[in-house]
Amino acid sequence: MTDKIAVIGGGITGLFTTLYLANAGFNVHLYERGDIASGTSGHFHGMLHSGARYAVNDEISARECANENRIIFEMASNFVEDTGGYFVALNGEEAEYGSILSRRCNALGILSEEIQPEEFLKLEPFVNPSAQKILRVPDRIIHSYEFSVAVALEALMNGASISTNSNVEKINVEAGSVKGITVSGVNGTRRESFDYVVNATGPYSSGLLSRSGVETPPLMPAVGSMAVYNGRFVNSVINRMRKPSDGDIFLPYGEVSILGTLATVVDNPEEFEVDSEDIEMMVEEGNEMIPALGGMKYSRIYSSIRPLVDDSSKSAREATRSFRIIEHTEDGLNGLVSLVGGKFTTGRLIGEQTADYVTGKFGNRDRSKKKVDLNSTYERFSRSGKCRYPELLKMLGDKRGTIDEERLNPALSLIFAASICID
Ligand SMILES: Cc1cc2nc3c(=O)[nH]c(=O)nc-3n(C[C@H](O)[C@H](O)[C@H](O)COP(=O)(O)OP(=O)(O)OC[C@H]3O[C@@H](n4cnc5c(N)ncnc54)[C@H](O)[C@@H]3O)c2cc1C
Repeated sequence: MTDKIAVIGGGITGLFTTLYLANAGFNVHLYERGDIASGTSGHFHGMLHSGARYAVNDEISARECANENRIIFEMASNFVEDTGGYFVALNGEEAEYGSILSRRCNALGILSEEIQPEEFLKLEPFVNPSAQKILRVPDRIIHSYEFSVAVALEALMNGASISTNSNVEKINVEAGSVKGITVSGVNGTRRESFDYVVNATGPYSSGLLSRSGVETPPLMPAVGSMAVYNGRFVNSVINRMRKPSDGDIFLPYGEVSILGTLATVVDNPEEFEVDSEDIEMMVEEGNEMIPALGGMKYSRIYSSIRPLVDDSSKSAREATRSFRIIEHTEDGLNGLVSLVGGKFTTGRLIGEQTADYVTGKFGNRDRSKKKVDLNSTYERFSRSGKCRYPELLKMLGDKRGTIDEERLNPALSLIFAASICID
């Protein structure tokens, strides 16, 4: 099997694409300009969506999320907090929306259950006591970096190569066919030949494609921000019971709580500013759901860009959260696909479908799907002898059983990520 595939971008879509292409027997190499998940996949809200958020207005994405929520929990429960989520109505209009939401969840097979506000407020005492209608859904929380590194290691153990700190300057095209890439890393700039290239740079696609003389597919980069509060104020994902909007989700992530988000379309995903008035508006919305936040200052803000599919008639809030695999043959170009849209929750699905798509181009491939178990990845990788820092691994291992055992995972993921080739 000599067909060589380059995947550009080590966010969740590029990582899963690499894993599934490696499993199909391709010689696959992933290039990431920073660290694993250093783009949006390391700066999102942390939700493993149940699909309920999109059940009323975005049926395809709702179905994708509902299915992936179950699959990811099965393959990677070590990185998931099974908190559950609640939609909370603070007025009559929101309660009416809740009735529609409940019907749509039923129709799409998303488990939802109405519970009494008094019962709910015992579980979540920081939520606004004027909550009138509550719907429980299977939202969960996913630990981004540990999970993403596990996917990278799994790909590595299945034969893929991964180069972090490797910026792809250009996709090289000759006579209408992709010939490879030009990449710069700590060892300088070089050209690499490939039979096929997958552009998984998500929200950052336009820069790479325009440098390569390739038209950017319909992409709407939309900035969102999150406010982090010290302390775990809620035990589950709290959603406002209304159409997706600003400042309407509050969730616990480890020892902190995170409020989000905003959605503003930007011209340049590499350089953008977030208006402080927008942040204040988001915080006020959050205060309505969780009044205790009103007396506190968030500890920090972080922001990132959604790689939304642009159909030109929809705003950033209305645009679908589903995805497209776009081949550039309409521009007369062979050997390149770009991945647009999706959620962190659906990154696995995008990777799987992209690998199937590419496999279809080459024929004679192993189409049987290997079962992926990310729960045992770290353990198998540490036994494989591929970790470059065994002494650090041992030091960390010795901390097991101490008071800090639960806090070790991010450090462990960093040691493993540093073992991935730095080019
Ligand atoms: C504010 C906000 C909140 C969100 N919350 C959630 C949520 O709670 N749950 C959920 O499921 N989804 C959420 N999402 C959506 C989700 O985060 C994204 O859809 C997903 O992370 C995108 O993954 P990706 O791999 O396509 O892009 P990215 O993660 O951005 O990956 C692209 C990668 O390409 C790399 N790259 C770019 N150019 C080059 C180059 N020239 N050479 C090499 N590498 C390059 C970048 O460094 C980056 O790592 C949220 C999004 C935003 C913006």
